[in-house]
Amino acid sequence: MRVDVVTIFPAYLEPARLSLLGKARDRGVVEIHSHDLRDWTTDRHRTVDDTPYGGGPGMVMRPEPWDAALRAIAGSSGPAPRPRVIVPTPAGRPFTQAYAAELAAEPWLAFCCGRYEGIDARVVDAWADDEVSIGDYVLSGGEVATLVMLEAITRLLPGAVGNAESVTDDSFAHGLLEGPVYTRPPEWAGRRVPDVLLSGDHGAIARWRREQALRRTARRRPDLLATLELHDRDRVVVAQTLAEEPCQPASDGAETTARPAGSDEPG
Ligand code: SAM
Repeated sequence: MRVDVVTIFPAYLEPARLSLLGKARDRGVVEIHSHDLRDWTTDRHRTVDDTPYGGGPGMVMRPEPWDAALRAIAGSSGPAPRPRVIVPTPAGRPFTQAYAAELAAEPWLAFCCGRYEGIDARVVDAWADDEVSIGDYVLSGGEVATLVMLEAITRLLPGAVGNAESVTDDSFAHGLLEGPVYTRPPEWAGRRVPDVLLSGDHGAIARWRREQALRRTARRRPDLLATLELHDRDRVVVAQTLAEEPCQPASDGAETTARPAGSDEPG
């Protein structure tokens, strides 16, 4: 996949050289090009913003540099199809795992990182295929939102994650939250790893994991269950979970043997 990111702060994209994204780039799974929007300004001060029509606080990003940048990027591969152009904005379509999977199927994405009060609506109308929100809060710019989306999308590209199963087992992959996870030692600070995980019985472990995922989802995100088709056994687990005493928001009653009441993950 090819990704172009247009921003007035290309250095914000430097973390995309680290960890999973960095390795995916090294392996050629994803190719990320960041561009300085100011390279497409024409005045001495490299101006990208101006006062809003109609008055009000803050500044708005001018359309001309964005249009010039997107023309240059979209035209840079000759007659090839143009990128799917994504504008991060709190007013956009909510970003989800399913949306990440949809974008991961694209060969070419271009992210337009707004700043100030956002980008002039005319150039967004002219170019954006998607306006996307990463959550109901307001960031100062689209760069962090772009990094969030890029990491979620890249995880789903073939060859990006060493063990492909870790992606298919992730939260949301099957509509459920992932349950609690443990590693050595088997006992830590008086808390034991659930016996079933040490049993070597793969069938029992799979059933326990499914049950924990259902319990956690029922307690923390019951909204996710509404769209899922559950087996009869799953339905029983959900009903039992919901019938239990109300829990602390961070507790899902995972069956560890020595966990203080009300705690979810150790530590
Ligand atoms: N005035 C805008 C509004 O209220 O919708 C907020 C502008 S915000 C200060 C500047 C930029 O940050 C936006 O243009 C967008 O690129 C980015 N941004 C802020 N919050 C975001 C969110 N929740 N999701 C995606 N992008 C966001």
